[in-house]
Amino acid sequence: VRARLRSRLEEQERLAARAATELDAARSEAQRLREVLEAVPLGVVFHDPESGEVFRNEKSSSPTDDMQADVLVTREVAQLMSGAATDTRHQTVELHGPPRRFLELTVKPLVSGGAVVLIEDASARRHLEQVRRDFVDNVSHELRTPIGALGVLAEALEGETDPAVITRLVSRMSGEVQRAHALIEDLLELSKIERTTPGERAPVDIAEAVSAAVQRVRPLAERSGVRVDVASVEAGVLVRANREELVSAVANLVDNAVKYSDEGSSVDVRVDVGATAGTVDIVVLDHGVGIPARDHDRIFERFYRVDRARDRRTGGSGLGLAIVRHVALNHGGEVLVSSVEGEGSTFTLRLPAGEGSAP
Ligand code: ADP
Repeated sequence: VRARLRSRLEEQERLAARAATELDAARSEAQRLREVLEAVPLGVVFHDPESGEVFRNEKSSSPTDDMQADVLVTREVAQLMSGAATDTRHQTVELHGPPRRFLELTVKPLVSGGAVVLIEDASARRHLEQVRRDFVDNVSHELRTPIGALGVLAEALEGETDPAVITRLVSRMSGEVQRAHALIEDLLELSKIERTTPGERAPVDIAEAVSAAVQRVRPLAERSGVRVDVASVEAGVLVRANREELVSAVANLVDNAVKYSDEGSSVDVRVDVGATAGTVDIVVLDHGVGIPARDHDRIFERFYRVDRARDRRTGGSGLGLAIVRHVALNHGGEVLVSSVEGEGSTFTLRLPAGEGSAP
């Protein structure tokens, strides 16, 4: 009898030991799952109808980092939870802000019972989608103008016999083609600049780059009767840059300075080394139409023009300053504007000085 009792006792002890090991394993499994859920960039709320227990990861408690907004989202989640989920449902919570936020809630029934609610902050994605839609709208609109004009001119040309009229129409057509071409070139340039990586930089001689940029604008300056004066630049001043981008940025600034100046006016280009510690400034100054203070921030946006009708006539794509700003950002620098309407503008492209000082 004693032997049987001992063997049953041993059997019980073995079972207890196995149960303890299994419990440990289940605990560490649960712990691991909890860690995984905390690592997920979504808010996760899980409701077990049997135990009535609600599990939520930290992200779900403060999905927006704004207490008032979080309360609203939590209320929506509770409402979703209270209905019996039989199939997956989505809901968008829009918070007017500012800043405007969009949270996407998804409630999903689980095979094992209960339901899980996922909370995703979709604001950045929505914003990007909006930017992309606006961009496509803008490009289409900008291209429609010259293409539409070409259509009208081509119609007028049909059956026209007067050589003087034909010459005039063809010359206007050629102008419209140039405008569409310039827009496409600027779009390609902007997209290229947005893609370049910092690795593609090398020491660039500022004097040489500025001179190359001014050279590009000379023909336009001569046609417009605007003088471009370049103050002599200290030789051997180097910046770590992508030369092509730098020349393009400076050329865009000089091109604008000429475009928005009257005949007989002049544009000054100079380089200031160390105007502020550790920087090189390329300064382009004109005595042209100037820019109203309210537009100073917006002129760097793609396609933004101060005076749409007038600025379109000047033939600009509206992308020049967006290109300049992007080049500045790519180089760890900035572009500054100071301007008075009717008096003129000064644009400063500020870059980190020295071969090795760029980030
Ligand atoms: P655009 O191709 O139309 O010149 P930009 O992006 O280069 O486009 O410039 C945006 C707008 O900023 C211009 O349409 C113009 O209204 C204004 N602007 C830029 N540079 C000057 C300047 N030097 N003087 C006056 N206005 C300027």
